[in-house]
Amino acid sequence: MSMDAVRVRFAPSPTGYLHIGGARTALYDWLLARKTGGQFILRIEDTDRNRYVADAVQDIKDSLRWLGLDWDEGPDAGGEVGPYFQSERLNIYQKYATQLVEAGKAYYCFCTPERLEEMRKKQEQAGEPSGYDRHCRELSAEEVEKKLAAGQKYVIRFKVPLTGKTQVHDELRGEMVFDHQTLDDFVVLKSDGFPTYHLASVVDDHLMGISHVIRGEEWIISLPRHFLLYAAFGWTPPAFVHLPIFLAPDGKGKLSKRHGATGVHEFKEKGYLPEALVNFLLLLGWHPATDQELFTLDQAVEAFSVERINTSPVNFSLDKLDWFNGIYIRQLSHEELAKRALPFLQKDGLLPDPCPPEQFAYLVRLMPLVQERIKLLSDISDAVGYFLREEIDPPAPELLLGKKGTVEQVTAILAKVETVLSQTADFSEENLERTLRALAEELQIKAGQLFMPVRVAVTGQTATPGLFQLLAALGQKKVLPRLKQAVAVLQQTGMEGAST
Ligand code: GLU
Repeated sequence: MSMDAVRVRFAPSPTGYLHIGGARTALYDWLLARKTGGQFILRIEDTDRNRYVADAVQDIKDSLRWLGLDWDEGPDAGGEVGPYFQSERLNIYQKYATQLVEAGKAYYCFCTPERLEEMRKKQEQAGEPSGYDRHCRELSAEEVEKKLAAGQKYVIRFKVPLTGKTQVHDELRGEMVFDHQTLDDFVVLKSDGFPTYHLASVVDDHLMGISHVIRGEEWIISLPRHFLLYAAFGWTPPAFVHLPIFLAPDGKGKLSKRHGATGVHEFKEKGYLPEALVNFLLLLGWHPATDQELFTLDQAVEAFSVERINTSPVNFSLDKLDWFNGIYIRQLSHEELAKRALPFLQKDGLLPDPCPPEQFAYLVRLMPLVQERIKLLSDISDAVGYFLREEIDPPAPELLLGKKGTVEQVTAILAKVETVLSQTADFSEENLERTLRALAEELQIKAGQLFMPVRVAVTGQTATPGLFQLLAALGQKKVLPRLKQAVAVLQQTGMEGAST
């Protein structure tokens, strides 16, 4: 495959938000362009007016940027072969459709929707293959003129040769041959003057100098039509690379919305890092020459090659994505992790927006305590909520007591801890550890018997970062009232117990 002047395009239809299948296509496009010093073009295929979703283009652009996939030509970037919205190129498609008619390779079809519907029904009843019956293929020039002059609605259809075959080529699958008898005379220009996908795609890929078309496997069935169009125009087709489909996590068929998140924005909102999603998508349809699993975008550019794209369907496993996410979260600096976590905390009302520098600095200080513990950025509120809230809800007595503690004993322990900690100004981890261990000895109890109720008293949870780190990060001002609160909870429990 020639690699000079690589120009690839990602050509989403704004009929919905960018989904992970599209993101993978864009990633592979981008990698090939960056690897070869070529160009990555973003083209918006907005010719289906019925299924147009108003903010889809914005979502597609935002999602690509979030993933780190910048485009060299397209919306916002400009370029010499624009416009890059197909809806702004209608005159171009009309010109080429007319050119096909003039060359005898396409024809006007005046069949009404009613006639087509009737035809379809008859075919179904007779058990015949469906497809246009070529009713208008042989209309005389005069008949066509008359109908056009009378303002009859028309579409333009491609004249598929009645016999013979078309051979197509896919870079990964090699040659495939399609019998013309299996193709009908497909529409290239619709009655509203908009092109069909086939015409627009071929015309644009040619005019935009696209060298490689990378897209999902579901488009292979369109390939013979595209090759017929290239041949009819006398153009050389680009190289085609069709990516394997995603299998659902349950192994039952194709991945779809009913299997959970499929939109890139959903993954972002759930707290996945773009680094993790990119790494995950890289390996969902491509395999490296080594057993390396972790790839930054730069490393992916280095390693990527079209030849190593898989053709067999790939399993979509969220466990793997979670695994990547944990790894990338742990690789972030404390400052960077705090930066990425901040929007989640702001959304949950735990930090103000904008976040004042002192509060941000405090957040950074908390990161080493929780970095190992979070899998998703959205776990952050649970992980640091009790640090950021002034107060916490009174913990449940059962949690404070644990398995063995009695109300009297734990009340006494916590009250004593509160007294001791109110008498020290030094809230360093070292001093806290020394003080609390000494206290346990003095009370003649095991360290754990003292640590667990303290942990629950100040956090409301039993699983937390190390106790001394935790107390040091919370600070005396939050620790003392929480200990008092826990003592009060237990006293209340004791009284209720006594009165029953
Ligand atoms: N607009 C088509 C899509 O959304 C593009 C297919 C292609 O890349 O040719 O999938």
